[in-house]
Amino acid sequence: IEKMREAEKADKVVFSFEFFPPKTEDGVENLFERMERMVIHNPSFCDITWGAGGSTADLTLEISNRMQNMVCVETMMHLTCTNMPVEKIDHALDSIKSNGIQNVLALRGDPPHGQDKFVQVQGGFACALDLVKHIRSKYGDYFGITVAGYPEGHPDVIQSDGLATPEAYQNDLEYLKRKVDAGADLIITQLFYDTDIFLKFVNDCRQIGINCPIVPGIMPINNYKGFIRMTGFCRTKIPAEVTAALEPIKDNEEAVRAYGIHLGTEMCKKIMANGIKTLHIYTLNMEKSALAILMNLGLIEETKISRPLPWRRPANVFRV
Ligand code: FAD
Repeated sequence: IEKMREAEKADKVVFSFEFFPPKTEDGVENLFERMERMVIHNPSFCDITWGAGGSTADLTLEISNRMQNMVCVETMMHLTCTNMPVEKIDHALDSIKSNGIQNVLALRGDPPHGQDKFVQVQGGFACALDLVKHIRSKYGDYFGITVAGYPEGHPDVIQSDGLATPEAYQNDLEYLKRKVDAGADLIITQLFYDTDIFLKFVNDCRQIGINCPIVPGIMPINNYKGFIRMTGFCRTKIPAEVTAALEPIKDNEEAVRAYGIHLGTEMCKKIMANGIKTLHIYTLNMEKSALAILMNLGLIEETKISRPLPWRRPANVFRV
């Protein structure tokens, strides 16, 4: 978070990479190999998601601790309130604290699988705001806290026409300000493909007095089906020109990936041209598109180093 703040002051663009916990042990090892190759490019931090409904809690903790202490990258762990009484929340926070992690992305989380509405678990929290307040009151300034922001409005308030009403959008903004006023240091946005919507959101946040860095969440398009699934789930607006470009090539995976790199590069260029100096890449655990975009922007150079450094410690020194 400090690096993000410094970047805003100095004329420097910084970036971060997001990963999710793989389903298999082999997948976890592959992810760590990929991370080793990616952190050579010096991201400000890397973060790891908290599986929907707390489904990956132990694995997320284990991966976070390995990231911080073996990959030696500044790590941020996502943490949601779904199915999490306060004791479990504190166990997770104590675990990462004892492993030297100082960054948390505090989220409400989605409803557990098969349920429509978020329901507060007994002894738990109802929304991200409560979680931010709890972290600040129990852990003081130890953690840097990030929260989620929604340039198009949270999916719950987006209607069948794909838009949030102006009133719902404004409520979302004001609620976001309450999260920041309660102690959040940084906002990372939901993915978007219409850069103007993101820029308007930043402007709207500034108008109501949200002054912390607002980091755009960039999800490179890696394949067509994944893109449609993700934008459907998040209710993201797909600009007409993106649909027009993808339709004729949707069955050609390589062409889709190349277009995704082109689009991601152009989006970031426009964002940077508007004075934003932070980029957060949703890697979906893939490295090529994320690195290609950063290379196109001149933020990283090609490198051939791919072996882990010799002084890294074995995984079994960490406990969750
Ligand atoms: P909140 O900030 O609590 O808000 C949710 C909605 O409720 C908003 O519309 C808000 O305005 C409204 N609301 C809540 N409380 C109030 C109130 N008191 N007054 C008025 N309005 C209120 N999900 C996961 O399961 N794991 C992850 O790792 C994960 N990572 C994410 C990372 C990012 C960057 C983003 C953008 C989302 C991520 N999500 C993740 C998804 C997220 O959990 C869902 O979008 C969830 O539905 C909302 O979480 P939140 O923290 O934004 O909720």
